Amino acid sequence: MPELTGVPVSPGWAAGPAYRLTEPPPLPAPRPVTDPEAELARAAAALRAVADDLMRRSEASSDRAAAEILVAQAMIVRDPVLEDSVAAEVKAGRDAAHAITAVLAAYRAGFESSGGYLAERVADLDDLRDRAVAVCTGVAMPGVPAPGVPFVLFARDLAPADTVGLDLTRVLAVVTEEGGPTSHTAILARSLGLPAVVRCPGIRDVADGTLVRVDGAVGAVSVGVDEQTVAATGAQEQARRSALAAPAGPGRTADGHPVALLANIGSARDLADPGVPVAEGVGLFRTELLYLDRTVAPSLEEQIATYAEVFRVAAGRRVVVRTLDAGADKPLPFLAQGREPNPALGVRGLRLSHRDPSMLDAQLTAIAKAAAGMDADVWVMAPMVATVDEASRFVDRCRAAGLARAGVMVEIPAAALRADALLGVVDFLSIGTNDLSQYTFAADRECGELAALLDPWQPALLDLIGACGAAGAAAGKPVGLCGEAGADPLLAPVLVGLGVTSLSMSARALPAVRAALATRTVAECRTLAAAARAAGDPAAARAAVVNG
Ligand code: PEP
Ligand code: MG
Repeated sequence: MPELTGVPVSPGWAAGPAYRLTEPPPLPAPRPVTDPEAELARAAAALRAVADDLMRRSEASSDRAAAEILVAQAMIVRDPVLEDSVAAEVKAGRDAAHAITAVLAAYRAGFESSGGYLAERVADLDDLRDRAVAVCTGVAMPGVPAPGVPFVLFARDLAPADTVGLDLTRVLAVVTEEGGPTSHTAILARSLGLPAVVRCPGIRDVADGTLVRVDGAVGAVSVGVDEQTVAATGAQEQARRSALAAPAGPGRTADGHPVALLANIGSARDLADPGVPVAEGVGLFRTELLYLDRTVAPSLEEQIATYAEVFRVAAGRRVVVRTLDAGADKPLPFLAQGREPNPALGVRGLRLSHRDPSMLDAQLTAIAKAAAGMDADVWVMAPMVATVDEASRFVDRCRAAGLARAGVMVEIPAAALRADALLGVVDFLSIGTNDLSQYTFAADRECGELAALLDPWQPALLDLIGACGAAGAAAGKPVGLCGEAGADPLLAPVLVGLGVTSLSMSARALPAVRAALATRTVAECRTLAAAARAAGDPAAARAAVVNG
């Protein structure tokens, strides 16, 4: 029975017949254009039809994130600049289908050369092209098949329009050949709670109707399974979902060892997420949102009001506020940081305060003022800390502002290697695995092509987390984790075994992590952690835990 492997992006098990997404229509041979005005009208009508269809799907969608993506896609085809470019192509003698294809190909090249996030969006442009070509040639738009039974959807990649049209009573899981952890397929599958695996080569050779089993937590696709496996997998997934629906409570291992489960938020608005009130607090309050789209820094009063709103809602609970983490993947226009040859390695995060401490001091003052008289347990931490000296200076500034709990994020390998020395000057550490992976593996966190290096199961990353956990245990100080790795239910017991004392994640991921922790004792967590660290690569580390 062939076993295919891809990148796991949304946990859960599913089994059933696999069916491939209806392929887009081929581009017909070019037609001579005899009436450019009529051809132009035909192209405009095709673009309009595609936009209208996307808007209809967006309005029919109950998933806000998905609906917003569809609107963004419709905006691309409604853009007058695009229409002008298509008109120029028609005037140059191309028929409607070829004119639209040529313009979107130019957009695609631009997205691809930008790399990172935009490069992962090229599937959206290809989808727009295929839809427009289908309208121009009078065939149905490409989309999800309807075999009449629940099925596993295979595709090269999914466009937002495909995922929005998914009937969740029919589609059991999604497996794609392309895409990355930040592609729409991944984002939407997670938001729909659908098991998903991306970048899984080999699915092209699987015939429609073949029975397959998908493990979205480890990225495995077994091809040619039998009916018993299908039934057992269905029962397994049902049990997992029931565990997730169990009432919330504090995070604990099976033997009652507490592991605080906290939420990551970016603004007071995120507090409205139904998962946040059941979290034990906020483990990462990203404050950049307050500064985005600004030409001048927010005033002290505005900052105080924003932080106070969060502290009010989180009364009686912990809130870990991260000071401004500007630069690299979080550029802030008003800072005018200037062009840096390599922004991820440049003056970002806490480093900006070495140039000019006034903005950090204002932020710390605002946090302290907002916390005064509130019932929230306010902790403050700095991003992008490399040395003990930086940490010590940050703690001094926090104390001067009247903040009692000051810590730093561990996002740079140097900090992890010296975690014990850092804990000599700070009250706590919080491991940011998104950046720690990026800097440990010299792999841009936004580059889907490097997803395998950014896998949180990389044993070298686990070693660094283990170094922090051991230092925390020796110092008797908390070591939390707030990167995306914290949201992986299979990894959670391993992280606890490595000495992590709290896990912070998007609120949606909390139930699965809570359920996973409750199945293991601390001693088991330590055994699993040792097994994962002893593995040679992420797949072997996962296998060691699945079989452990
Ligand atoms: C991290 O780097 O893991 C982290 C939590 O911070 P951010 O993703 O905001 O950089
Ligand atoms: Mg970070």
